[in-house]
Amino acid sequence: MELTLYNTLTRRKEVFAPLQPGHAGIYTCGPTVYAEAHIGNLRSYVFPDILKKTLRRLGFQVRHVINITDVGHLTSDADEGEDKLELAARRSSRSIWDIAEEFTRLYLRDLERMNIEVPPDMPRATGHIPEQIAMIQDLEKSGFTYSTADGIYFDTARLPDYGKLARLRAEGLQEGSRVEMGDKRNKTDFALWKFSPPDSKRQMEWDSPWGRGFPGWHIECSAMSMKYLGQTFDIHTGGTDHIPVHHTNEIAQSEAATGQPFVRYWLHGEHLVLGESSRMGKSEGNFIGLQTLVDKGYEPAAYRYLVLNNHYRKFLTFTFEALKAADTALTGLRRLIAEAGGAPGDLREAESRKSMTPLQEKLLEDLADDLNTPKALATLWTALRDSQVAPEEKVSLAAFAEGVLSLGLFDFSRLEAAPLEVPGEVRALAEKRWAARQARDFKQADELRDELAARGFAMRDGKDGYELTALD
Ligand SMILES: [Zn+2]
Repeated sequence: MELTLYNTLTRRKEVFAPLQPGHAGIYTCGPTVYAEAHIGNLRSYVFPDILKKTLRRLGFQVRHVINITDVGHLTSDADEGEDKLELAARRSSRSIWDIAEEFTRLYLRDLERMNIEVPPDMPRATGHIPEQIAMIQDLEKSGFTYSTADGIYFDTARLPDYGKLARLRAEGLQEGSRVEMGDKRNKTDFALWKFSPPDSKRQMEWDSPWGRGFPGWHIECSAMSMKYLGQTFDIHTGGTDHIPVHHTNEIAQSEAATGQPFVRYWLHGEHLVLGESSRMGKSEGNFIGLQTLVDKGYEPAAYRYLVLNNHYRKFLTFTFEALKAADTALTGLRRLIAEAGGAPGDLREAESRKSMTPLQEKLLEDLADDLNTPKALATLWTALRDSQVAPEEKVSLAAFAEGVLSLGLFDFSRLEAAPLEVPGEVRALAEKRWAARQARDFKQADELRDELAARGFAMRDGKDGYELTALD
């Protein structure tokens, strides 16, 4: 089975062909740890998780790296403003290292709560200063840098294909946004190393061949991704907002430094928008983090369901009604799995199975089609509702789906508290039995009671009507 992925570099779906057969390297731009991640940020870590788990199902060995940005990310993408962490530290009068540690911990907590597998490699920018300096030195040797009063800059005019990812001519790249030129030669040039300001002391600063200071934001991702995955690697992921500046600059400095192509497949996730189609950002006030949802009584898996029910390349409009609907749907899936006889133990059994059933194959095909999770969920729903599909086949499909979708499908702990959902056919049987009882046809009524029990329902007869309950 082939995996096709939409590559931002070519603007096409392409068949994934790894550099090394059977292996896949993935780099995901991680969080800047100066505040809690909002749910829109968290969305962009779900599709790399699906990608990783799909690749594994397809037989690949995957190495996944997510970095932690704890220095150098300024309040503006255009090398202006203050370092986000220095600013947060000053505002809270806490140590910058404390802040970085706290929000790294909260980020990892959110990943775990959303069933996003935490990769073993999560390098921090501050832990890779020598690598970043070495890379800037390489660029300096090949004449790609120049020095200004406030730092060492990358000369984008030296690179003929600068901006190829965003497909904008250099002049157009930051059009519309005010660009402080300072001593920059070209508007798209960017800082590789910034000098510490002469009038104030930074909490994070390092010595370098050019003077005391700190690395620019983009250089960390090039230095760390190449350190862990090689000069050229398979897949790089991030949000669409990274295309024009951050990823464009990662490509420029990496390819200028090595003379090799940097990344073969660029995958970008689309934004989440809040109800009124306002883009959410930490500075915009209407902050919703995962904890906000948990405080409102939602389990993180419901949010994951909402995310997976929308394709990662499409805008997702977040509303609490949509989250509620996702929560109900997830409960519905779990109930169908429980009704088919699923138990937590089945999960391991189905995973150890060597060959795929046709339904499992169908579900994997959906995922292998540019990670089409809405389609995979539809396949799961259809099979679980189909009376022609044997219960054990339903359970094995659900276990297979769980291995990639990671929704806690076999977590039945919330089922009892949830309102009972009665499938149409069960309701029809119940009505038939009620009519039989009214007609004093107790033989048929008993037969129908057994049929209902086979579907996991019991019927409590009242004077004027009946109540359906779930059988334990
Ligand atoms: Zn990055």
